[in-house]
Amino acid sequence: MKILYLCLTWFLMLGCSSSPTVYREPTSANEELPPLAEYVAYVKPIKKPLFQLKGPFLRTRTRVPGPVNQEDYGKKLLTMLGLNPQCPLGENRPNCPAPIGDADYERVQTERAAEFWLILGPNEQIKITAPLVKGKAPSVTYKGVYPADEDSEGFPLIGNSIMEVAHVLAELPFSTRRRITQVDLLSSRSPWDKIYTKIYQRPADEPMRAYMQALPFPLGVVIVPPQRKDNLPIVETMSSTFAHEAGHVWSFQCFEMNSNSEEWQAWREAMALDRNFVSKYAKSSFLEDTAEMALVYAATLSWRGTSKGREYEALLSKKFPHRWAILEKTYSDCGLGK
Ligand SMILES: [Zn+2]
Repeated sequence: MKILYLCLTWFLMLGCSSSPTVYREPTSANEELPPLAEYVAYVKPIKKPLFQLKGPFLRTRTRVPGPVNQEDYGKKLLTMLGLNPQCPLGENRPNCPAPIGDADYERVQTERAAEFWLILGPNEQIKITAPLVKGKAPSVTYKGVYPADEDSEGFPLIGNSIMEVAHVLAELPFSTRRRITQVDLLSSRSPWDKIYTKIYQRPADEPMRAYMQALPFPLGVVIVPPQRKDNLPIVETMSSTFAHEAGHVWSFQCFEMNSNSEEWQAWREAMALDRNFVSKYAKSSFLEDTAEMALVYAATLSWRGTSKGREYEALLSKKFPHRWAILEKTYSDCGLGK
């Protein structure tokens, strides 16, 4: 089976983001709904090249990032999932499905990277970071090639270019894009793969491998690890993945980083009342359900005011009335300090 998309949060038990090697299936779990792929073909391409956009497009400087505190990340994530971060290694109580030990935090990102800013308006910019090439910032069209790792069967890894990411971000609806403040292109697999493999109890021969992940910490950062060439996503599918990841960010910002919060409980109640799932992946956990619903919601935003948009909105709001109401109320600015 080929990896379609992984996202960190996408693969949560699920599938995507992180993937567990949970492969994302862009099909609907509800036979009455069109395949999800139809919804995510929503991008209205910007006809003009990016360099014609107002303001400086890309600037660069190099920086040495501080080490990422993976322990903080891991603990926040487990709390988010309602798991006990203090579970001792080796125990497997019901509330300790994924004992995490110090060895799981061994990957620390210290590689130097170049910083770029995608400037999309007077008050709108997204930072994109990419690994240096021979000590210098890469060109914006450079697709990095990196050594094979333990799960790539000897195949070298290849990454998306700055320009690809910039184009996809620029095409996203504003209220989706604004949830993403930084995109980090990595030179090796996600440092969190190991942790997700454990949390989701993936078999040893099917480890999680993230294609994209929205970090619960710091919020707003999305990482994009390189993939085997035959798994590298094409730009057309990256937009839906970014919209899915932005959905995680929206939920983390709006519903709090605690799965027992009132807002998360309300979402789960809405799931129970709607009794529909927008995709198979959405069924994997309430976190992925949230991101998948946010994805299809985002898919309607670019079409608002058109007959196609009205058609999608009517269908989705009928199938998912309770969750749709929450999205309508909170998707655009909840948790953004406005
Ligand atoms: Zn996800």
